[in-house]
Amino acid sequence: MSEKLFDRVALIGIGLIGSSLARVLRRDSPGTTIVACARRPETLVAVERLELADLTTHDPAEAAAGADLVVIATPLSAYAEIGHRIGPALEKGAILTDVGSVKEAVIRDLGPHVPPGVHFVPGHPVAGTEHSGPESGFAELFRDRWCVLIPLPETDDAAIAKVGRMWEQAGMRVVKMNAAHHDRVLAMTSHLPHLIAYTIVGTATSLEESLKSEVIAFSASGFRDFTRIAASDPVMWRDIFLNNREAVLEILQRFSEDLTALQRAIRWGEGDTLQELFTRTRAIRRSIIEAKQA
Ligand code: NAP
Repeated sequence: MSEKLFDRVALIGIGLIGSSLARVLRRDSPGTTIVACARRPETLVAVERLELADLTTHDPAEAAAGADLVVIATPLSAYAEIGHRIGPALEKGAILTDVGSVKEAVIRDLGPHVPPGVHFVPGHPVAGTEHSGPESGFAELFRDRWCVLIPLPETDDAAIAKVGRMWEQAGMRVVKMNAAHHDRVLAMTSHLPHLIAYTIVGTATSLEESLKSEVIAFSASGFRDFTRIAASDPVMWRDIFLNNREAVLEILQRFSEDLTALQRAIRWGEGDTLQELFTRTRAIRRSIIEAKQA
């Protein structure tokens, strides 16, 4: 589905997600000029070597100037400063969107910097791997995954539709949601599982040496999947927990209660309780496979 939706796209942050989007634009939107922005020269050198952009810069304002679409794809902790820097450079009529994994905090940090006449469409392509940087991206990352767009009261429908079409070009299914709801859903489906993986791997690394080497040797028996998740980018995940604090703490509270109930069932030998839960969770896995989200 080739269609040139934008003349000039500024990708501020060009790691896993930004570079995957650049690859989609290269493939599906011929004639679109791509401007990539990152802080470190080695990131920009890699972007040039991989031919992911027509222009590169370390200055977000320079990237945003003249763009009809600006996509912020950095860790969340950089958003407020980037908003401050690009605000005056954004063209009237341009669309500003992002890919951040938390949405209320993004609206808080970017919203005040969006000048009148610029369309702000917060977004979250729910797709990823544990890898980072421009080399790790690939155009098929987004295929058959969901992209959440957050319509704000002041955003016009045409701008939302245009951002949605871009993610559809990438193979995504687009859904609209309000920011608070998005943050609660993702706290459960993404943030809590990552927190559990970080905890389990953290516990294993604090075991005494003899046990530690066996943990690595026998990792295939369940631990390995957690180590993959716990290898995700530390800065990105620090930012997610700091910026989705309430929703994560609420879900964590529910999780701790359920864990305590399970602990009790094991202590009192309540096999039926355990089997009933494991039967229910197995059915959930089947429905995820049927929905092609496995
Ligand atoms: P990444 O691979 O680590 O890439 C981050 C990029 O941002 C790099 O190009 C980095 O380059 C640049 N950057 C960092 N600070 C910057 C700043 N102040 N100004 C300009 N550029 C800056 O991260 P990612 O996985 O693509 O994640 C990016 C965003 O997508 C995050 O907000 C995350 O929540 C969201 N997200 C991630 C996933 C996932 O699974 N990874 C999925 C969906 C959404 P330099 O270091 O050279 O500046």
